Amino acid sequence: MKLKPNHKRFLSDLHELRKFGASGVGKGVVRPAFSPEDIAARAWLADKFEEAGLVAFYDPMGSLFGLSKEPKSLLLGSHSDTQPEGGWLDGALGVIAALEVARASKEAGGPAVSVVSFQDEEGRFGVTTGSTVWSGAMSLEEADKLLDTEGMTLADARASMPASEGFVDPKRFSGFIEMHIEQGPWLDEAKEAVGVVTGIVGIRDMRVTFEGEQNHAGTTPMHRRKDSFQALAEFNTLINNRFRNVVTPQTVWTIGHVKLHPDAHSIVPGRAVFSMQWRDGDTTRLARMEEIIRDTAREVAKARGMQVSFGKMLGLEPVEMNAELRQALENSAQKHAVDKWRRMPSGALHDATNVAAHMPVAMLFVPSINGISHAFEEDTDEADLVTGLDVLAGAVSSC
Ligand SMILES: [Zn+2]
Repeated sequence: MKLKPNHKRFLSDLHELRKFGASGVGKGVVRPAFSPEDIAARAWLADKFEEAGLVAFYDPMGSLFGLSKEPKSLLLGSHSDTQPEGGWLDGALGVIAALEVARASKEAGGPAVSVVSFQDEEGRFGVTTGSTVWSGAMSLEEADKLLDTEGMTLADARASMPASEGFVDPKRFSGFIEMHIEQGPWLDEAKEAVGVVTGIVGIRDMRVTFEGEQNHAGTTPMHRRKDSFQALAEFNTLINNRFRNVVTPQTVWTIGHVKLHPDAHSIVPGRAVFSMQWRDGDTTRLARMEEIIRDTAREVAKARGMQVSFGKMLGLEPVEMNAELRQALENSAQKHAVDKWRRMPSGALHDATNVAAHMPVAMLFVPSINGISHAFEEDTDEADLVTGLDVLAGAVSSC
């Protein structure tokens, strides 16, 4: 049985969703989780779900489902919140493609399809927060205490959303497919239309604090200083060297959120707090990197007579895509994008990682022009968006 997704209806909905939080710069969007724009966009989506014959359902986190009335269905979707400065496709594409495939499948008498837009994928409060709580990896009580950068609790943020008492039972779904933009340069550079994802890398994220001694920047001789910035700088150089024997070209690591205290030109900074994040597809390698990070930080602190402490380690394990769903996507890609597709890992994190705890998952990518996303410039050729939609619909028809 063949699904005939309506390309015009799909593109028109995608452009309509873009209006919620339109930045005024290109096709940029500012629609962070729980913002008025995000809540309005979800209300619009809920209407679209109902129009498509699905039952709109907000879970306690504000993740919005469009549930098929059948007892068992395939789940498609992604997220509709954006980064503080985001593009129109990151997340939105997967949700609107899911909606169109659900409609097309209903029209053709195809498999039952449900749709989801997870809340706070972009991590205003954590990392893929909505799907993390839905999957059970974090309790709602624990999540409620999470803070955004302004100090607002997630409990307060979600109080402004419509919400149901309970969560959707993951057992309703036979599998999950997420369509997403690549957010990297590979497909665009190769002029290919589709990537079938083989697996999603794992991620580790931890806060590190060097505690030295705050003092006068004019009178404290260099040899007596316990300068926390100097410790951080040395730590950075050392891990870059030590990782070299451990990592692959796909491994990445990033220091961010650096806060020096006090942050002043005439004071030796007594404290440096920063985030240390690293990503790779291999759990053993992630663990080996953690060892290097901890050992190196302790070594630097000790040599300088300083203290080092580590925050709670956040992270997600690498996840392999389900072989059967992947095969369905590959067959469909070979049909709709003949020799213009490839198999590839995902270096970015996605809701699919959490969903994989409960059901088979798979993902497909379409190109990001110049590899740009998390920016107002993010875009994809409409021809590629449509090809991706057809590949998704083709895979669903064979499920
Ligand atoms: Zn995304």
